[in-house]
Amino acid sequence: MTKSVLIVGAGLGGLATALRLAKKGYIVQIIEKNSQAGGRVNQLKKDGFTFDTGPSFFSMSYEFTEFARDCKIALPFKYFSLDPLYTVNFRGNPKTYYLHKDIHKLAAQFSEVEPDFEKKMIRYLEKSKHLFHDTVDVAIKKNFDSLFDYGIKLMKVNPVHLPVLFRNFWQQVSKYLKSDDAVQILSLVAFFLGRTPFDTSAVYTLLSYTEFMHDGYFNVEGGMYKIIQGLVKELEKENVSIIYNTEIKDFIAEDGHLTALIDQNNRRWTSDIVVINSDAAVFRGSVFKRREFSQEKLDKKSWTMGPLTIYLGIKCKLPMVHHHNYYLGDNFREYADKVFRSPDSLQKPYYYVNVLSKHNPDCAPANAESLFVVCPVPDLRFKPDWSDRDEIVDSIIEDFSGRIGKDIKPEIVSRTIYTPEDWQNQFNLHRGSGLGLSHDMLQIGGFRPKNYDEEFSNVFYVGASTIPGTGLPMVLISSKLVCERIEKYVGNQ
Ligand SMILES: Cc1cc2nc3c(=O)[nH]c(=O)nc-3n(C[C@H](O)[C@H](O)[C@H](O)COP(=O)(O)OP(=O)(O)OC[C@H]3O[C@@H](n4cnc5c(N)ncnc54)[C@H](O)[C@@H]3O)c2cc1C
Repeated sequence: MTKSVLIVGAGLGGLATALRLAKKGYIVQIIEKNSQAGGRVNQLKKDGFTFDTGPSFFSMSYEFTEFARDCKIALPFKYFSLDPLYTVNFRGNPKTYYLHKDIHKLAAQFSEVEPDFEKKMIRYLEKSKHLFHDTVDVAIKKNFDSLFDYGIKLMKVNPVHLPVLFRNFWQQVSKYLKSDDAVQILSLVAFFLGRTPFDTSAVYTLLSYTEFMHDGYFNVEGGMYKIIQGLVKELEKENVSIIYNTEIKDFIAEDGHLTALIDQNNRRWTSDIVVINSDAAVFRGSVFKRREFSQEKLDKKSWTMGPLTIYLGIKCKLPMVHHHNYYLGDNFREYADKVFRSPDSLQKPYYYVNVLSKHNPDCAPANAESLFVVCPVPDLRFKPDWSDRDEIVDSIIEDFSGRIGKDIKPEIVSRTIYTPEDWQNQFNLHRGSGLGLSHDMLQIGGFRPKNYDEEFSNVFYVGASTIPGTGLPMVLISSKLVCERIEKYVGNQ
């Protein structure tokens, strides 16, 4: 008999799961708290500008290709590769590093600071490559039925990688490269996981392989939100409806089975199967009222950065600024120690600037630029008061103007700021943590909130805080893993 599925959340995880299931013949409906789809992959249109509000690039593009193949569709958006991948500038240093995938071009950037960079980098990337290929199918693209099952799967990983488990990201990079500039730049990718290189496991140096060797970084023609618009169109073809402005607050269950979800207007929603795309830890605590996911227990877990994001429309062009740019300070170690816990780090902020209109001219009026700035900040546990948001943003704008040699303040015609409070309230993210639960060894794989419910046999989870983790390709893998679970559940009935 055809089964009905209700998905809570129209983030990438919810949409991808909906399409996979609809293609398999399930009757699917999505409920979304906000007035438009996408979750963290969202869009703001304001004052003639278009801004991607969250992700500005993705890696592992083959996960999108595989997703389209699984769903038997042509990928409903076009993406293109970025070169340079990004640029990096340190405070007080006029040099800008251009991070190319091409190893010779890359090595030329470091010729003054790191002797034999090319040889060292190739050795580092070879190790990252083996880490990637030896773990991705065994530990990342797999469901785990228990901690024991997780342990058994991990035992299949080549033991040659064991020492890596005892190092952090920074230590691993430092084994191969010695100059401060090179180690800091290669360690930046740890921030993409929402933590610092000092508290991210060396296992994640496999990401250096994905960025520099395996695949690279990609942007979407017309902006990242085209991913969401494309998926919503595909869902329409499959008669999947999305009900907006509807937030699930409560539930009814009977005999280990979820019978209904209840929204803010007390309306009941029923289906055979439920998939939660809302944060897997937060939903268990706030809606299912599980003690082990109470606010106090969640506060004790390790969470990724709170993002301070700034969307600026400026009435001039910035030819000297590339697509993706990192502006770092001159106190990396001290900064990393403070950034997620102490508002002091904001006195000398490190930040990222993306010029969306560089490759997507439709996102800004003629002779104007649409800028997106992300500054990692402490989450609401450590900085609950954001009344100083404008001051902090002004200091970032001033610093950026100094670095690029152009005062952009008088050019700003559109300015929007999201603090961790906004991220929390918009998407139900714990204390405004932007990327969800962090990827500590005790919060990944078999230790991460499961993609099936502990009590209700017909409830499953997809997205950044369940397996395998955060970021667009990981969320696509998550949608595949949860569908495997659902198929198994239905097959056993
Ligand atoms: C500032 C920022 C920059 C990022 N940059 C990148 C990047 O460049 N590249 C990259 O790969 N990743 C990036 N990420 C991470 C990426 O955005 C996420 O990992 C991914 O989008 C998470 O998707 P999801 O489907 O798991 O969750 P979400 O996108 O959060 O979707 C969950 C949905 O559920 C809805 N919801 C929540 N609770 C309820 C409820 N009770 N009832 C109904 N609906 C509910 C929410 O409104 C939301 O729409 C970034 C994230 C942030 C915040």
